[in-house]
Amino acid sequence: MRSPLLIDTHCHLADRAFAGRLPAVIRAGRMAGVMKFIVPAIEPEEWQRLQVLHKSHSEIFPAYGLHPMHARLFSRNILEELESCARSAIAIGEIGLDYTLAVSRKYRCTLSANNSGLLESWTCRSCSTAAMPFRT
Ligand SMILES: [Zn+2]
Repeated sequence: MRSPLLIDTHCHLADRAFAGRLPAVIRAGRMAGVMKFIVPAIEPEEWQRLQVLHKSHSEIFPAYGLHPMHARLFSRNILEELESCARSAIAIGEIGLDYTLAVSRKYRCTLSANNSGLLESWTCRSCSTAAMPFRT
């Protein structure tokens, strides 16, 4: 019987923690049967690293997004950059709420938009107080 093709659908191989040892990490994955890696990138700096990885590793498939913990970086320029990156993406990811973050667990927060359509604040649904400003 043939072994199934395994795909890791969420591994942060563009994280700086893997710099310099990515070939060994991919090799270890392949030895375990993982032949494809869907790699989310959670903020603009990581998008750039993932684009380079995608071009140099045929087994890496990008999924770009702006994680809520980086939402303060959001702007029209960032949105345009994300749209550009997304042209080579297999998915859009890391855009929902991360309930593993202490602030998310505590406040059960949701993102809200102001009149301009840009995200301005992270508002707690329970208490209606701003939990984190997006712009500093
Ligand atoms: Zn993730």
